[in-house]
Amino acid sequence: MTSEPAQIERIMVIAAHPDDPEFGCAGAVLKWAQAGRHVTYVLITSGDKGSHDPDLRPGLLAARRESEQRAAARDLGVHEVIFLRRPDGLLENTLDLRRQLADIVRRLRPDAVLTIDPWRHYQLHPDHRAAGQAALDAVWSAREWYIFPEQLVEGVEPWRVKQVYLFWTDNPDHWEDITECMEQRLAALLRHVSQVGADPATAKLIERVRQRAREAGEKPGYAYAEAFKRFEF
Ligand SMILES: [Zn+2]
Repeated sequence: MTSEPAQIERIMVIAAHPDDPEFGCAGAVLKWAQAGRHVTYVLITSGDKGSHDPDLRPGLLAARRESEQRAAARDLGVHEVIFLRRPDGLLENTLDLRRQLADIVRRLRPDAVLTIDPWRHYQLHPDHRAAGQAALDAVWSAREWYIFPEQLVEGVEPWRVKQVYLFWTDNPDHWEDITECMEQRLAALLRHVSQVGADPATAKLIERVRQRAREAGEKPGYAYAEAFKRFEF
């Protein structure tokens, strides 16, 4: 994160499912963790419906996906992984979810938050839309004294996130050069065995991720990049 201001010390990724961070922003996460930033993952669901096998019970799948997510996070240097265990496929941006995320933001005080762009055209997955919206609404709520004031006890105060990075965006205005860490980033994605499977499907998927990173790198002139819409507050 050499291009970033020095005051960005703590980073939080808020996503809908285990594997969203590894598909969306793992290169940036790895770079920033290597640069000494403290990174926390918040996964709103544990991806318990992420299988086409009707015999795989959701509880078993959730446990498996949490352990895959922990392994991927460990590879990337993420310090902490928090699972909110809301039901996969049924996520809504409710006041209750916003309240929970605002509380986490107020307690953990991230300088930057990475989440899914909820306004991407034709973002068909309801969980991806809801997660991005809830995360942004929580960032806004966390800084206001009069929103969820019951949280402001025992030293918890409003917290102002300084930067937001939206991944899977149609309108990127910030690119992270992930050329150096591309292979490590792909290896972390492969930790999600229940989702990315085994060869030969995996080889195709990896090529697709590689191709997207190549395309993202065209504009800034990097071999591989991750693209974000960035907001500064
Ligand atoms: Zn997802």
